[in-house]
Amino acid sequence: MKDSTVIVVGGGVIGAACAHYLVKAGRKVTLIEKDLFGHACSLHNCGYVCPSHALPLTEPGAVGTAIRGMFKSNSPFSVKWRLDPKLALWFFRFARRCNKKDMLQGGKAIHPLLVSSLKLWKEIIHKDKLSCEWKSKGLLYAYASKKAFEAFAATDELLRHHFNESATRHEGDALQELEPALKPGLAGGWHYEGDAHLRSDLLMASWKQNLESKGVEIHEKCTLTGIIENPDSSVTVSTDRNLFEGSHLVIATGAVTPHLREELGWRAPIQPGKGYSITMPRPRICPEIPVIFPETKVGVTPFESGYRLGSTMEFAGYDDSLNPKRYGLLLKGAEDYLQEPHCEPIENIWYGWRPMTHDSIPIIGPCPGRKNVILATGHNMLGLSMAPGTGKLVTEMITGSKPHLEPAPYSPERF
Ligand SMILES: Cc1cc2nc3c(=O)[nH]c(=O)nc-3n(C[C@H](O)[C@H](O)[C@H](O)COP(=O)(O)OP(=O)(O)OC[C@H]3O[C@@H](n4cnc5c(N)ncnc54)[C@H](O)[C@@H]3O)c2cc1C
Repeated sequence: MKDSTVIVVGGGVIGAACAHYLVKAGRKVTLIEKDLFGHACSLHNCGYVCPSHALPLTEPGAVGTAIRGMFKSNSPFSVKWRLDPKLALWFFRFARRCNKKDMLQGGKAIHPLLVSSLKLWKEIIHKDKLSCEWKSKGLLYAYASKKAFEAFAATDELLRHHFNESATRHEGDALQELEPALKPGLAGGWHYEGDAHLRSDLLMASWKQNLESKGVEIHEKCTLTGIIENPDSSVTVSTDRNLFEGSHLVIATGAVTPHLREELGWRAPIQPGKGYSITMPRPRICPEIPVIFPETKVGVTPFESGYRLGSTMEFAGYDDSLNPKRYGLLLKGAEDYLQEPHCEPIENIWYGWRPMTHDSIPIIGPCPGRKNVILATGHNMLGLSMAPGTGKLVTEMITGSKPHLEPAPYSPERF
């Protein structure tokens, strides 16, 4: 029925979470996906559900790191400069926020969404029995250099003081005792014990089945091409296949949301931040705790059914090539830290476009100039970690119930 149906565009983790909570609130949901459900940025990410990542990318010194990265072929952070005013404006705005005050303001916006989502993930996975190899083992930051290990103490203190997120410090041999798959001789590590992880490709496959079993109509290979607002405030969506009608429309189209500028009448200030992952079988000596190596910016995620290396951040536009130089950094970046950093045969090499906003804060709220169109996009590097909170908030906006989080920080009107 038109009055209770909500149309969700985008079958990534954010669209799935919106569909989940809308159905729970008694709405009928039609989900439109231009490719296959769960096959874009939500497919082979690192799988961290990590409130410890409360601090946004806009930290003091981030601009210098970005500039140095431009001159190093092996930098995990790279920008392919081109004549693109939108990219230049994005970086200008990003650079202006690289100070402690704005960094903390960004953290205060994203942390409640991270905390709420961790709690909601536990509920969803338990109640809906989503099979995704969920584990609550925390997240470990491991350092080879003593200087870098000690320097992280200031970040940990900031996280403790402002966000109540603090790590257990493991120095020298104590680090290898905690995680024996690491090489001996590393300087130390910081363990955020409250974080969790899951296998995202399994999650998306299991969630699709679960949503369909609850009556969500999923239309794959179906692309949104137009939005019509009807006089009775309902919305008609045209696609390359059918017309769909609903009371509300949710746009959860991730990094490609700026492509909908004409349809929405509003341009999302999002840049694609390309990252890679490599999935393989578990090495013989496999870590049990997911580990990030901040010095090489590589992350390792052990699953029951495999093992994944992931990372790199490349601002190269909508570049869909698999660049061996870039994903090679993942293999190299784990070698100094793990006894068995990789394992043959490689099962897949993957890239995803993260939906990056210049303030690191997602965009959740009514689309400017549109009635009954809600945006749920721009989740940067943490879409998996923020998905359930986003889905719940979007549902509260649509049903008019009291929001479980203050929605103002995520409003699209802030741009
Ligand atoms: C290497 C890597 C590692 C990562 N690790 C983590 C991690 O450990 N933890 C974490 O929290 N996050 C992580 N992320 C980030 C996370 O994957 C993203 O933030 C998240 O997947 C974004 O989800 P989304 O639903 O917004 O976008 P997507 O998953 O990209 O979904 C958007 C969907 O919309 C569809 N679509 C677009 N336009 C249309 C249209 N016109 N009509 C119909 N459908 C359309 C697309 O086909 C796509 O399927 C990582 C990302 C990368 C690249």
